[in-house]
Amino acid sequence: MTETRMRVGLGHDRHRLVSGRRLILGGVTIDYEMGLDGHSDADVLLHAVTDALLGAAGLGDIGEWFPNTDPRWANVDSAIFLQQALREVQNRGWKIVNLDCTIHAERPKLSAYKKPIAHQIALLLNLDPSQVNVKAKTGERVGPVGRQEAIDADAIVLLAGADDPARDAGSVRTS
Ligand code: MG
Repeated sequence: MTETRMRVGLGHDRHRLVSGRRLILGGVTIDYEMGLDGHSDADVLLHAVTDALLGAAGLGDIGEWFPNTDPRWANVDSAIFLQQALREVQNRGWKIVNLDCTIHAERPKLSAYKKPIAHQIALLLNLDPSQVNVKAKTGERVGPVGRQEAIDADAIVLLAGADDPARDAGSVRTS
Protein backbone atom coordinates (compact mmCIF):
# COMPACT_ATOMS: atom_id res chain seq x y z
CA MET A 1 0.00 0.00 0.00
CA THR A 2 1.39 3.40 -0.93
CA GLU A 3 1.33 6.31 1.44
CA THR A 4 -0.73 9.33 0.42
CA ARG A 5 1.56 12.25 -0.14
CA MET A 6 0.34 15.51 1.30
CA ARG A 7 1.43 19.15 1.38
CA VAL A 8 0.12 22.07 3.40
CA GLY A 9 0.20 25.72 2.31
CA LEU A 10 -0.39 28.97 4.16
CA GLY A 11 -1.57 32.32 2.80
CA HIS A 12 -1.95 35.77 4.33
CA ASP A 13 -2.88 39.13 2.83
CA ARG A 14 -3.86 42.66 3.85
CA HIS A 15 -5.44 45.48 1.84
CA ARG A 16 -6.28 49.02 2.93
CA LEU A 17 -9.93 50.07 3.27
CA VAL A 18 -10.69 53.15 1.17
CA SER A 19 -13.68 55.07 -0.17
CA GLY A 20 -14.78 54.74 -3.76
CA ARG A 21 -14.01 51.03 -4.25
CA ARG A 22 -16.27 47.99 -4.20
CA LEU A 23 -15.68 45.52 -1.38
CA ILE A 24 -15.14 42.04 -2.82
CA LEU A 25 -14.31 39.13 -0.52
CA GLY A 26 -13.89 35.60 -1.85
CA GLY A 27 -15.44 36.62 -5.15
CA VAL A 28 -18.59 37.96 -3.46
CA THR A 29 -19.51 41.65 -3.58
CA ILE A 30 -20.23 42.89 -0.05
CA ASP A 31 -22.67 45.72 0.64
CA TYR A 32 -20.49 48.35 2.36
CA GLU A 33 -19.62 52.02 1.94
CA MET A 34 -15.88 51.34 1.56
CA GLY A 35 -13.79 48.90 -0.45
CA LEU A 36 -10.23 47.59 -0.63
CA ASP A 37 -7.42 49.42 -2.39
CA GLY A 38 -5.18 47.48 -4.76
CA HIS A 39 -3.94 46.94 -8.29
CA SER A 40 -6.44 44.18 -9.07
CA ASP A 41 -9.94 44.02 -7.58
CA ALA A 42 -8.06 43.73 -4.24
CA ASP A 43 -9.93 40.59 -3.14
CA VAL A 44 -7.82 40.01 -0.03
CA LEU A 45 -9.33 36.58 0.62
CA LEU A 46 -8.77 35.17 -2.88
CA HIS A 47 -5.19 36.49 -2.71
CA ALA A 48 -4.61 34.61 0.56
CA VAL A 49 -6.13 31.43 -0.89
CA THR A 50 -4.03 31.79 -4.06
CA ASP A 51 -0.87 32.11 -1.93
CA ALA A 52 -1.86 29.07 0.14
CA LEU A 53 -2.27 26.99 -3.04
CA LEU A 54 1.01 28.18 -4.56
CA GLY A 55 2.79 27.64 -1.25
CA ALA A 56 1.48 24.12 -0.79
CA ALA A 57 2.83 23.12 -4.21
CA GLY A 58 6.16 24.90 -3.62
CA LEU A 59 5.42 27.44 -6.36
CA GLY A 60 6.45 30.67 -4.65
CA ASP A 61 3.93 33.45 -4.12
CA ILE A 62 1.25 35.47 -5.86
CA GLY A 63 3.58 38.45 -6.37
CA GLU A 64 5.93 36.34 -8.49
CA TRP A 65 3.14 35.01 -10.69
CA PHE A 66 1.05 38.19 -10.94
CA PRO A 67 3.22 41.28 -10.22
CA ASN A 68 1.22 44.35 -9.17
CA THR A 69 3.37 46.37 -11.58
CA ASP A 70 1.95 44.45 -14.57
CA PRO A 71 -0.82 46.41 -16.34
CA ARG A 72 -2.43 43.09 -17.37
CA TRP A 73 -3.62 42.65 -13.78
CA ALA A 74 -5.04 46.16 -13.28
CA ASN A 75 -8.56 45.92 -11.84
CA VAL A 76 -8.90 42.25 -12.83
CA ASP A 77 -11.13 39.74 -11.08
CA SER A 78 -8.84 37.90 -8.63
CA ALA A 79 -10.56 34.65 -9.60
CA ILE A 80 -8.12 34.74 -12.54
CA PHE A 81 -5.18 34.40 -10.11
CA LEU A 82 -6.89 31.69 -8.10
CA GLN A 83 -7.85 29.58 -11.10
CA GLN A 84 -4.39 29.92 -12.67
CA ALA A 85 -2.85 28.78 -9.37
CA LEU A 86 -5.29 25.85 -9.31
CA ARG A 87 -4.24 24.81 -12.83
CA GLU A 88 -0.55 24.98 -11.88
CA VAL A 89 -1.17 22.86 -8.78
CA GLN A 90 -3.28 20.31 -10.68
CA ASN A 91 -0.72 20.13 -13.50
CA ARG A 92 1.82 19.02 -10.91
CA GLY A 93 -0.42 16.18 -9.80
CA TRP A 94 -2.06 17.65 -6.72
CA LYS A 95 -5.66 17.84 -5.65
CA ILE A 96 -7.19 19.91 -2.85
CA VAL A 97 -8.27 18.02 0.27
CA ASN A 98 -9.69 21.03 2.11
CA LEU A 99 -9.35 24.75 2.54
CA ASP A 100 -9.88 26.79 5.70
CA CYS A 101 -9.72 30.56 5.89
CA THR A 102 -10.35 33.55 8.15
CA ILE A 103 -11.33 37.10 7.21
CA HIS A 104 -10.32 39.75 9.75
CA ALA A 105 -12.61 42.77 9.47
CA GLU A 106 -13.94 45.12 12.14
CA ARG A 107 -16.77 46.11 9.81
CA PRO A 108 -18.92 45.24 7.97
CA LYS A 109 -20.40 42.29 9.85
CA LEU A 110 -19.68 39.23 7.70
CA SER A 111 -21.68 36.51 9.44
CA ALA A 112 -24.33 36.45 6.69
CA TYR A 113 -21.64 36.29 4.00
CA LYS A 114 -19.55 33.38 5.28
CA LYS A 115 -21.60 30.65 3.59
CA PRO A 116 -22.03 32.46 0.24
CA ILE A 117 -18.28 33.17 0.18
CA ALA A 118 -17.44 29.51 0.95
CA HIS A 119 -19.79 28.41 -1.85
CA GLN A 120 -18.23 30.85 -4.31
CA ILE A 121 -14.69 29.71 -3.51
CA ALA A 122 -15.79 26.06 -3.83
CA LEU A 123 -17.28 26.89 -7.24
CA LEU A 124 -14.07 28.60 -8.39
CA LEU A 125 -11.95 25.62 -7.28
CA ASN A 126 -14.34 22.86 -8.45
CA LEU A 127 -14.74 21.65 -4.89
CA ASP A 128 -17.67 20.45 -2.87
CA PRO A 129 -18.77 23.22 -0.46
CA SER A 130 -17.99 20.85 2.43
CA GLN A 131 -14.29 21.16 1.54
CA VAL A 132 -14.24 24.93 2.12
CA ASN A 133 -14.64 26.69 5.48
CA VAL A 134 -14.79 30.47 5.93
CA LYS A 135 -14.49 32.17 9.31
CA ALA A 136 -14.78 35.86 10.21
CA LYS A 137 -13.28 37.77 13.11
CA THR A 138 -13.10 41.40 14.20
CA GLY A 139 -9.89 43.16 15.24
CA GLU A 140 -11.21 43.89 18.75
CA ARG A 141 -11.01 47.62 17.88
CA VAL A 142 -7.19 47.59 17.97
CA GLY A 143 -4.55 47.48 15.23
CA PRO A 144 -5.12 48.24 11.52
CA VAL A 145 -8.08 45.87 11.33
CA GLY A 146 -9.67 47.09 14.55
CA ARG A 147 -9.30 50.74 13.49
CA GLN A 148 -10.99 49.87 10.15
CA GLU A 149 -7.90 50.83 8.17
CA ALA A 150 -7.51 47.39 6.59
CA ILE A 151 -9.01 43.96 6.07
CA ASP A 152 -6.77 40.91 6.50
CA ALA A 153 -7.25 37.32 5.39
CA ASP A 154 -5.58 34.03 6.27
CA ALA A 155 -5.91 30.75 4.38
CA ILE A 156 -4.57 27.25 4.78
CA VAL A 157 -4.93 24.46 2.24
CA LEU A 158 -4.11 20.77 2.28
CA LEU A 159 -3.13 19.04 -0.97
CA ALA A 160 -2.92 15.33 -1.64
CA GLY A 161 -1.04 13.63 -4.46
CA ALA A 162 -3.23 12.55 -7.34
CA ASP A 163 -3.94 8.84 -7.73
CA ASP A 164 -1.69 8.25 -10.75
CA PRO A 165 1.85 7.91 -9.34
CA ALA A 166 3.40 8.76 -12.74
CA ARG A 167 1.67 12.11 -12.79
CA ASP A 168 3.16 13.40 -9.58
CA ALA A 169 6.52 11.66 -9.79
CA GLY A 170 9.23 14.12 -8.88
CA SER A 171 6.80 16.75 -7.64
CA VAL A 172 7.56 16.05 -4.00
CA ARG A 173 10.40 14.67 -1.94
CA THR A 174 9.43 13.03 1.32
CA SER A 175 12.97 12.43 2.59
MG1 MG B 1 -3.31 41.21 -2.21
